[in-house]
Parts: sequence; structure tokens; C-alpha cells
Amino acid sequence: MPNTGDSKPPEWLFAAVIRNADVSALRDAGQHIRAGHLVAFPTETVYGLGADATNGEAVARIFAAKGRPHFNPLIVHVPDLGHAERLGIFSGAATRLAEAFWPGPLTIVVTRQADTPISELVSAGLPSLALRVPDHPLAQALLRAAGRPLAAPSANRSGHVSATSAAHVAEDLETRVAMILDGGATQHGLESTVVDATGSAIVLLRPGAVPIEALERVLGAPVVRASANVDPSAPRSPGQLESHYAPRASIRLNATHIQTGEALLAFGADAPSTAGPQFNLSRSGDLVEAAANLFAALRTLDASGAATIAVMPIPNGGLGDAINDRLKRAAAPRS
Ligand code: AMP
Ligand code: MG
Repeated sequence: MPNTGDSKPPEWLFAAVIRNADVSALRDAGQHIRAGHLVAFPTETVYGLGADATNGEAVARIFAAKGRPHFNPLIVHVPDLGHAERLGIFSGAATRLAEAFWPGPLTIVVTRQADTPISELVSAGLPSLALRVPDHPLAQALLRAAGRPLAAPSANRSGHVSATSAAHVAEDLETRVAMILDGGATQHGLESTVVDATGSAIVLLRPGAVPIEALERVLGAPVVRASANVDPSAPRSPGQLESHYAPRASIRLNATHIQTGEALLAFGADAPSTAGPQFNLSRSGDLVEAAANLFAALRTLDASGAATIAVMPIPNGGLGDAINDRLKRAAAPRS
């Protein structure tokens, strides 16, 4: 059976397992993370739906579990600034913010280190990475038990409100999560403040638990508010963070054969044969594997220099919707 990444629970899941977060539960949770499973855990803001951020298929399962119809970049949780600096490049201002507010509800978007082990799906193909150090003893304990950075959006189905208790997570995600670490009600109930620190000015991307005035006091400079409430599909003004990865090559969808000079983005066992550049998202037709490979595949084929990337049809449903959403955006004419 192909894995469609849809709402059917995989066989490694039982009933939603709420565990009192003792030593043995934390050890099991760490093992689940290293095995590529999802673990929900409390932070000081809301419950997070965590996966090993270095494992693309584990990250793809986050999107499947949330039922998100599109890929958006995820926040990565790390134990401290030292770990964060191995994953992303911190400017002076970014470092000052991290030193002042971490651990705490501030997410800092920085440029990915060239050799970062973080999956490209986490960044939705962007050259940047959103990092934060959670101020909650169980989140910290899970990070250390797992020994991996954790990609963790809010632990709720897409379009539902964020979960602030283990019972909320269980109601919303049911059997889609391997374990829920119970840490009681979360403190803020409000998500982290997100700032872009990739450029010379600090830009507010999402208002949240840390007030903007507190950031400005630490920076001694204004925070640019222009992009609050960013609509990811809206055009961005120059100088702002690119909201979406877009390949240079043009994209031809639903290709069943390949034309001269085209690169091939294949899916499944029946790929047309070509001597040109090609990348199969998943030979076995597994949408979880395909989602994990999507951004690396686009980047690789783009780098081949082909003017057009021909994309084989990919089934809708589950993660297929998010994959097709991204490919459709990439195929849309650009101004
Ligand atoms: P959530 O999925 O609810 O945790 O929200 C994550 C927030 O962080 C969203 O507002 C994302 O757009 C933002 N975010 C995460 N990674 C990036 C990134 N690389 N660049 C810009 N925004 C990001
Ligand atoms: Mg959310």
C-alpha cells in the first residue's frame, strides 16, 4: 500500500497516548523522535507537534498530521544559542535578541548555515531558518532526550485553534501522534513572536508573546513592522524576506512524456525514460518520501540549467495536496 500521508493512522500508532512526563516517558519520547515519529510536547506558549528537524520524512509527517494543504516553513526548537549557531548564521543584532530573550517565546529567522543538517522541507525551500529556545522544562528535557533539533508547529489540525493542554492535543490530533507529553496547561497560550534577522534591520513577521517594544529596548533601534500579518501568497516588497521558494526554470505540470531539453521531476515506478537531468520524488509512490524530497529535487533540477522542469502527475489527497499546491505556485507565470 502506498503511504499517502493522509489521515489514516499508520500502524505504529495506537490510541493517542498521553503520558505523564516522567523519566521513562521522556526516554520513550526521545526514541520516538529518533525513529521519525511525532511527539507533542508543552512549551511556554502552546503545545508543539515535534519531529526530528534533520529527518525530511519525519517533517513531512507533521504536515500530514496537521492536514495542512500547503507547506509553510516551520520553527525549529533547540536547547540553547550554541546549538542554534550551528544551524543558522547569527548577526550581531540576532545574537543580542537571543541573549536577551532565550529561553523564551521569541523566534528568530536567520540564514541557514551552508552545512546545516536541517531538512529543506523545514524551510519550505527558503535559504532561511526560524529558530527558538523554549522556556519550558519539559520541552528542554525532550530536546535533550531526543538529541535532535525539533521542528514543531502548534499541535493542532490545520485551521483549528492552538492546543494549550494535553487533552486538547489528543482531541485534535487523535491517533496522528505517537505520544503526548503532559505538562499541564501552557503559560502564555499565545504563539511566539517571529522576527526576521537575515537583513540589516530586524523585521516583525508575526506578533506574539514578546512585545515589539521589548525587542526595541534591547536593540536600541526600531523593529520594522511593515510585514506583520504576512499573507504568504501576497507579493513582498523588495528587501523583505522571500516568502516562497521559486525555481528559475519554468515548470510544466502533469507531464506524461518528456520533451527535448527538459529536466524530469518524476513520481512512482512508471517514469518516462530520459537521458537528461531527472529526480524521482518516490519510486514507490510514497507521498511522505516525495514531500521530504520536494525542495531538494526542485533545487537540483533547477541547478542543472534546464529551461523547463517537466513534472509527472502526483495524486491529490493527504500530502499530495500540499505537494501539488507548491508545484502549481512554481508553475504560475511570474511577473
Ligand atoms: P507555526 O507553524 O504556527 O509554528 O508558525 C510558524 C511561523 O514562523 C509562521 O508565521 C512562519 O511563516 C514563520 N516562519 C518559520 N520559518 C520561517 C522562515 N524561514 N522564514 C520566514 N518565516 C518563517
Ligand atoms: Mg498554529
